[in-house]
Amino acid sequence: MMKEVEIYDVIIIGGSYAGLSAALALGRSLRNVLIIDSGIPCNRQTPYSHNFLTQDGKTPLEIATIGKEQVAQYETVQFHEDQVIKVKLLPEGFEVITAGGNNFKARKLIFATGVKDILPDIKGFAACWGISVIHCPYCHGYEFRHKKTGIIARGDRALHLASLVNNLTDQLSILTVGEADFKGEQLDKLGRNHIDVIETEIAEIIHDAGQVKEVIFKDGTSQRFDAIYAAVPFVQHALIPNKLGCELTEQGHIKVDNFQKTTIPGIYACGDNSTMMRSVASAVSTGNIAGAIANMELTLERF
Ligand SMILES: Cc1cc2nc3c(=O)[nH]c(=O)nc-3n(C[C@H](O)[C@H](O)[C@H](O)COP(=O)(O)OP(=O)(O)OC[C@H]3O[C@@H](n4cnc5c(N)ncnc54)[C@H](O)[C@@H]3O)c2cc1C
Repeated sequence: MMKEVEIYDVIIIGGSYAGLSAALALGRSLRNVLIIDSGIPCNRQTPYSHNFLTQDGKTPLEIATIGKEQVAQYETVQFHEDQVIKVKLLPEGFEVITAGGNNFKARKLIFATGVKDILPDIKGFAACWGISVIHCPYCHGYEFRHKKTGIIARGDRALHLASLVNNLTDQLSILTVGEADFKGEQLDKLGRNHIDVIETEIAEIIHDAGQVKEVIFKDGTSQRFDAIYAAVPFVQHALIPNKLGCELTEQGHIKVDNFQKTTIPGIYACGDNSTMMRSVASAVSTGNIAGAIANMELTLERF
């Protein structure tokens, strides 16, 4: 049963790592907070999450559950499972409207909404995503050390990933899925490090419960792989900040300053939606800052 609050100090949209972290700072400051979450974090298919100190190797859900339990101990924080579909600007703050037909008001808003990865239309790719088709060497590279590894990417992005993964395995190929665009010095680096470049388009990734076994190419050839890195494009999970007038960066992140403030007063963003440094640690860190700054601004308005 939700406690009736006429106007929340802060509504946090997105209740995964970034949102929970913001809520912790605000709950500890006795702020009336509502976290609205639609329950689809980007790492939900990954079996184990790595590289977050104290929680290395836990499942994504375990980390979020511990976070939620700790935040729920602060009685001024409330949770609501729903999807926010619209936000209206009010003289005193914001009105938040959900798909479930609820309306809530708040003085400040924190968007912790994450991003949505756009997976390529390659048979088998989606089933392996987060399991053995991975986006980040820090999160999952160690588990595939010394294994036969592919990188689906082109140009500078492919070189960047190859330079990192090269330290984890010497069985490395770049799969450009079409004509490669590497030039002089890039080709020298790939040659010096014995990294193959395969240009043939991919027909299918053969896998066993998400574990890559083989890549079948469109020319009928195939190669065995244990893991594949892929640099995939993304879109904002929630388009609302942009519709409200929050500026985006060239890369498509919500533009924030060092205090997680967006370009619209009273609106903050944290986690994946506003940084290219995608990790649980970074989401928790930026959420912590957004919560503290929202609290400070509320304090300064009244003190
Ligand atoms: C496959 C994969 C594996 C990963 N593995 C690791 C790893 O091992 N270690 C690591 O440190 N990082 C890992 N990451 C990165 C990490 O998962 C993200 O950096 C982290 O989840 C970002 O947290 P967030 O709170 O910003 O966003 P998310 O965790 O994506 O959560 C966003 C939340 O906002 C909600 N939401 C969005 N829009 C709305 C709306 N309109 N209304 C209500 N709720 C909304 C969503 O339902 C979701 O619950 C991985 C990422 C992927 C994609």
